[in-house]
Amino acid sequence: MECIFCKIAAGELPAKKVFESEHVVAFEDIHKVAPVHVLVIPKVHRQSLLEVNPNDVDLLSGVQEAIRAVIKDTGIEQTGFRVITNSGAAAGQTVFHLHFHVIGGRELAMTLA
Ligand code: 5GP
Ligand code: ZN
Repeated sequence: MECIFCKIAAGELPAKKVFESEHVVAFEDIHKVAPVHVLVIPKVHRQSLLEVNPNDVDLLSGVQEAIRAVIKDTGIEQTGFRVITNSGAAAGQTVFHLHFHVIGGRELAMTLA
């Protein structure tokens, strides 16, 4: 298993975990771009959103639950936050295990690209 996020999910690589459930793990990004920068990942390997299939209902609801827990626990539920998933190298994806960046805790620029 060469995927670093699979290893983090399995506890084989260290990470600052902030949330864990049956299907999902959330941990702090190693290179934070904001005071709150957490990555939410499914425990099963999916390369990107493109690989998510109709049977992945538990995975997706787990992601939603984790995002909700992170924004509540860090207080950014009140101040505003952004959720991003990069899909493909041209979009800036560097780790090819589906992950959602949850970013907040400072003013975020109005940009989509
Ligand atoms: P991407 O560019 O694929 O959307 O985001 C990958 C993210 O994973 C980057 O923000 C990067 O800082 C983070 N990252 C890469 N390797 C590690 C790691 O080993 N541990 C943690 N906590 N974050 C990582
Ligand atoms: Zn993986």
